[in-house]
Amino acid sequence: MLFWTAPLIPLSKTICSGKNENSIDYCKLTIDNDDLSCLAERCAKCGACTSVCPVYQVTGRESHTPRGRLHLLGRHTSPSSSTYGALFSACLACGACLDACPRQIDTLSLMIAARHEIPLLNQPHFAEKLLARKSLTAPSLLSGLARLRQNLLKRLPQSSGLRHKLSLLPEDFALQPLTPIPAEKDTVTSPAEINYFSGCLARYLSHDISRATEFLVNHFSGKGIETPEKQTCCGLASFASGNRKEAQKLARKNITAFTDNTWPILTSCASCYSHLRSYPKLLADDPDWSRQAELFAERLLEFSQFLDTQVSSSPGSNQAELRVFYHDPCHLRFGAEKITSPPRQLIEKICGQPPQELPLGPHCCGQGGLFTIAHPDISKKIMSGALAEFKELSSDMVVTTCSGCLLQWQQGLQNSKETARARHLAVFLAEWIKR
Ligand code: SF4
Ligand code: SF4
Repeated sequence: MLFWTAPLIPLSKTICSGKNENSIDYCKLTIDNDDLSCLAERCAKCGACTSVCPVYQVTGRESHTPRGRLHLLGRHTSPSSSTYGALFSACLACGACLDACPRQIDTLSLMIAARHEIPLLNQPHFAEKLLARKSLTAPSLLSGLARLRQNLLKRLPQSSGLRHKLSLLPEDFALQPLTPIPAEKDTVTSPAEINYFSGCLARYLSHDISRATEFLVNHFSGKGIETPEKQTCCGLASFASGNRKEAQKLARKNITAFTDNTWPILTSCASCYSHLRSYPKLLADDPDWSRQAELFAERLLEFSQFLDTQVSSSPGSNQAELRVFYHDPCHLRFGAEKITSPPRQLIEKICGQPPQELPLGPHCCGQGGLFTIAHPDISKKIMSGALAEFKELSSDMVVTTCSGCLLQWQQGLQNSKETARARHLAVFLAEWIKR
């Protein structure tokens, strides 16, 4: 089951002959030999992608670069070992290479398309990885995982990336079913006009994110929030690991969960937002759902972008020194979204000062969803680089809007015995306003 059952590259024609000769249709299940050769030939081997790839920067392996993968795949049509599985799983799907490539070759789609045929978890410790993958596609399993935490930690090898996740859960953690979030004492509750897609972390583990989001939206826009109970995991983990069918199933569930009204759908998790926005592409071939997916995507609001439009000006009177660093989630930094200014503007408007910046500019944290589980050593090395720069800032706090990045920073700060804390941007801003 976890081993290859089909050749990596079936003989069918799908890419360079398509609409965009630089890309692969990652919603299809096959990758074509001619298309691979075409993409490989288009690569100028300039190395621009290598200079931005966080994985290559810590491993130094050419096979970990988009250029290297294109080269290999353009020349090998029937790989017979798990080498290719490891090769394609060692990508954060951060999208940095897409922005850097002068020929606009969509190597990220190539990676995702290949994962549809290569089980990402086809590596040592596959049981733990499968468990982690299942827990992400069925979030209610997080509760069971938490209860089993102590026993699991004893049984898991030190190298298992799942330890990262389990060790972050509080000792007394128990699943809290989604219930209406109690209004803050100082909040004037308003009738709901906005839906909330919370994401798994805010829903199951960190209710402070949900509460802070509701408080801020109500505080600045005067609007109330509705959180449909039937929403589920966005499906990014399933999709990124190559389980397209599971991702489509979750997408249909989420679209259905938000059909009671036509209000906008706000999400406070950058990765969820990015994946929810891809539902039209994910369901493009399904005539029963493609239009619904488009309408769903049109209703989406990203937390910082929305709130930035609601906060008109800086309070201006705050003299407290702000030593806060904003971490850009890759899902908002690269590709089509590029939501990098709104969170910074928001911090400046509400706190009176802009956040701090890393000396060398934004740095990937190495989380990458299941990447941290499949490649914990590489993930840690990438995080170490970000931490080293962060230490130069003498910041008190890291704020971000991605659940994965938040967990990664919390773990990284804890492991390096830093006193700085990591907070979701919503929690930080709500605390700042109420202090
Ligand atoms: S998506 Fe990110 S990690 Fe993957 S190859 Fe491109 S730059 Fe490297
Ligand atoms: S940036 Fe694009 S053209 Fe240059 S080596 Fe990478 S994939 Fe090839």
